[in-house]
Amino acid sequence: MRLTRYFLPVLKENPAEAQIVSHRYMLRAGMIKQQAAGIYSWLPLGFKVLRRVEQIVHEEQQRAGHIPLLMPTLQTADLWRESGRYDDYGEEMLRITDRQKRELLYGPTNEEMITDIFRSHVNSYKDLPLTLYHIQWKFRDEMRPRFGVMRGREFLMKDGYNFDVDKEQAIHAYNRHMVSYLRTYERMGLTAIPMRAASGPIGGDNTHEFLVLASTGESEVFYDSAVTDLELGSRSVNYDDPAQVAAICQEFTTLYARTDETHDSALFDQIPEERRKVGRGIEVGQIFYFGTKYSEPMGATVTMPDGSKVPVHMGSHGIGVSRLLGAIIEASHDDKGIIWPEGVTPFHAAIVNLKQGDTDADAACEAIYQGLRSRGLDPLYDDRDARAGEKFATTDLIGLPWRITVGPRGLKNGVVELTSRRTGESEEMSPEAAIARVTEIYAGV
Ligand code: ATP
Ligand code: MG
Repeated sequence: MRLTRYFLPVLKENPAEAQIVSHRYMLRAGMIKQQAAGIYSWLPLGFKVLRRVEQIVHEEQQRAGHIPLLMPTLQTADLWRESGRYDDYGEEMLRITDRQKRELLYGPTNEEMITDIFRSHVNSYKDLPLTLYHIQWKFRDEMRPRFGVMRGREFLMKDGYNFDVDKEQAIHAYNRHMVSYLRTYERMGLTAIPMRAASGPIGGDNTHEFLVLASTGESEVFYDSAVTDLELGSRSVNYDDPAQVAAICQEFTTLYARTDETHDSALFDQIPEERRKVGRGIEVGQIFYFGTKYSEPMGATVTMPDGSKVPVHMGSHGIGVSRLLGAIIEASHDDKGIIWPEGVTPFHAAIVNLKQGDTDADAACEAIYQGLRSRGLDPLYDDRDARAGEKFATTDLIGLPWRITVGPRGLKNGVVELTSRRTGESEEMSPEAAIARVTEIYAGV
């Protein structure tokens, strides 16, 4: 993309309404525009990152064997009456009446609808296990929408639902979700710690929230600092191997890590003092095993080999897709702007022309631009007739991890400069070497 042809409405001033850094930078970098409290338009740059985050979520869900579909945003009240949640959900549910006076709602989640799909089409234990998921907009009429996309009213969520014959199978599905989530967050450059969460009225301890440590997080967290060193890395996972998947979950959930809702100070005090940490975290996902809570009242059953009909065991598993953009920025920025991890960056590299209109500089930039594109990369070429300082400020603000700076002086010696946004370190090299280096960096992402 050439910047002169793009739509990147950056702001020079700090927007007064933004209280935390991610909200501030998303507004300043022209990623989002607020349309109403907690409701945003996704401008081209924000939309691009949102799509990259979604893509990673899709890839990791499908790697775990989970199947994508798409359910609507609007649901009927009658469906929610079957589970009893229409009345229970309260003020957070946006209720709508159509011209025929039929009661609808804008879905805050989809347990009822997915259970309805299941019971309409699945009858036999032979069709299990089955995990279906979608990435769809949700609406929750939050009392205090704030922090930009972090706590919106309309927000994008991945929600997946497993259907299994018994608890053991359902726990394998739960574990698959945990491992696939760990990989998902790591690919986004995040450390998200699974923490034991409050199970609410359902009982049992089969729910975990994933928290990204950040001083601006809304949850208070208590953890053993050794938990932050755990990494899934590039190890290969066989999602069809329950023992392997369970062992990974064990590895990631044995050290103490809890939110204030489940915190147990007696257990916490057993951690060696220097590793005992109290901090704040952003919830970027939650997984839940809830057994037959929905399948029983809604009649989602399968016929077993002996002819008996049993309600299926279910769980639901959510990732806050739009919230993740805020979480990534909270975890990765400096005083100049965002620093995108390579896995989610909207453009792979910036090409900055220090002297637009100079024949050599223009030609070199053009060659680098085409060179990166022909290798499947997506560079942003700052071809504005603007001062170098202004161009640097823009690429720093919007957070592109790599910058290739091209000017007549360097070109006389046959070199351009490749700069890392994260470390600020620059290296001179030929234009071809810069193309090769950037290509190599992304080959491993
Ligand atoms: P919270 O405790 O933050 O209100 P929740 O526990 O009610 O969230 P879940 O039902 O677990 O949310 O939804 C799955 C994920 O969706 C959450 O982990 C979070 O990342 C995201 N999410 C929930 N509410 C919002 C919101 N208002 N804005 C943006 N993302 C949200
Ligand atoms: Mg939650």
